[in-house]
Amino acid sequence: MLPIRENIRTMAAYVPGFQPPDGEEWIKLNTNENPFPPSPDVVAAIRAELGDGTTLNKYPDPPSSAGRLTAAALYGVDPSRVILANGSDEIINNLIRAFCDAGDEIGMVQPSYSYYATLADIQSVRISRFELDNEGKIAGLPERFGGKIFFLTSPNAPLGITFTNDYIAELADRCDGILVVDEAYADFAEENALKLLDQQSNLVISRTLSKSYALAGMRLGLAIGPVAVIEALDKIRDHYNIDRLAQVAATAALKDQDYLRHCVEKICATREWFSTALRELNYLVIPSQGNFVFVLPPDRDSPRVYDELFKRKILVRFIVDGLRISIGSRSEMEICLAALKEIG
Ligand SMILES: *Cc1c(COP(=O)(O)O)cnc(C)c1O
Repeated sequence: MLPIRENIRTMAAYVPGFQPPDGEEWIKLNTNENPFPPSPDVVAAIRAELGDGTTLNKYPDPPSSAGRLTAAALYGVDPSRVILANGSDEIINNLIRAFCDAGDEIGMVQPSYSYYATLADIQSVRISRFELDNEGKIAGLPERFGGKIFFLTSPNAPLGITFTNDYIAELADRCDGILVVDEAYADFAEENALKLLDQQSNLVISRTLSKSYALAGMRLGLAIGPVAVIEALDKIRDHYNIDRLAQVAATAALKDQDYLRHCVEKICATREWFSTALRELNYLVIPSQGNFVFVLPPDRDSPRVYDELFKRKILVRFIVDGLRISIGSRSEMEICLAALKEIG
């Protein structure tokens, strides 16, 4: 037998949300993508960089300096505290690689982003899962969490709830290792943890350009944290982790905050309209701070509703006994609502 590591041979692969082939007429509300295109500045920047293709034979700038400087200015931190990545998945992966030896422990909330566990499994890292209590706090967390990393998704996916900054600060204080606040959806939320960075020396925030910036197809994420953490991430990343087109896309996207706000406002307005309409259909809808809602149908038979939507070429995600429905365009959500009324 080939000497593939035991835990790789036996581990279950992460199953991403179904990506139907381009061109098929699905309404895709299963992976929290943005219904809008990215900023026109992004498209222009990619076109300019691509030109006639003659830059593509040269490697990109290894540290992605322009994007880092732009992100640092946007978040009001020194550039030494920011790193860009090939999706925030790369940030999560490299944090685990930087902090955890085989047998070490990470913590995460159940339910949250299950890919933390897959990436930990690959490194033979133990995973402690904690549920949320009725107040939205982490149940059963020891007074001191001795693991190397605790991953807190805020806003939580799939539930859409956020954690207050007071609570996040308390959690960071209770962690022996680092607290990573995965803010993939923070642009859709009222609050974020950026202002805690200066007071918590073990806090790292990760962001993605996949959701709010409508760039899931480019693979761009970033982390903001203590200089020592950023330096470690810089050592272990692929040296050319972000290609030329993605680098100019990142800079242009982060600079066009007006466009970001415009899209986010539309999505949040649609989220509120859709949530109210579903409650009128007797759905249980958790108030969401993300670009998705977590719902339970009146008969609580989520698999049935999932199947009925699937038959109508509407894709949502079935997670922990409920449905996570991404907020698409207003017209997509009107079609989804009409289907849910019909399904009953
Ligand atoms: C989408 C998502 C990610 C991954 O973001 P990428 O930048 O596309 O890799 C990470 N964390 C959470 C909670 C997400 O929902």
